[in-house]
Amino acid sequence: MSPLDRLTHLIAKLPGLGPRSARRVVLFLLKRREALLVPLIQALSETAEAVQQCPVCGNWDVQSPCAICRETARDATLLCVVEDVADLWALERSGAFKGRYHVLGGTLSALDGVRPADLRIEALVQRVTTDHIGEVILALSATVEGQTTAHYVAQQLAATGAKVSHLAHGLPVGGELDYLDDGTLTAALQARR
Ligand SMILES: [Zn+2]
Repeated sequence: MSPLDRLTHLIAKLPGLGPRSARRVVLFLLKRREALLVPLIQALSETAEAVQQCPVCGNWDVQSPCAICRETARDATLLCVVEDVADLWALERSGAFKGRYHVLGGTLSALDGVRPADLRIEALVQRVTTDHIGEVILALSATVEGQTTAHYVAQQLAATGAKVSHLAHGLPVGGELDYLDDGTLTAALQARR
């Protein structure tokens, strides 16, 4: 396979892209060698080398534990549970949350064969217990899978004594946190129940 074919093949694997758009991306990069192609190679290489998943919360960062877990100004008794790192980043962008996070890594799904052991639920229960977390906010999407997962996680947390709250209604059904604007996120967080 030629380097161009290999690059096109790899870019076609990215979310939202297929072979046709991959060819367009490759041409775009070739025409912008110094402005885009070379810096992109550098950024990819640095990312692959330095960025790792935080063992505490599941976020991606160059330091371990991540910057959010290290930040002492945050409320250490408040924990927000999200499905994916994209949701964590969305909440961070909104600036509405000042506690810490726990990324589950997905939602329970009988259809896709995702069982509780496949998600970071046991680590969550352990963390809530040992870190004396006072409140756990389940910021899971309003999909059937998201709500099934929220129900299961709440059950697992019952014995810890922590208060468990949910994001307020107003999240679009089937919508993911990452697609919400900051104002909606902030309102959903403030009106949690
Ligand atoms: Zn972390």
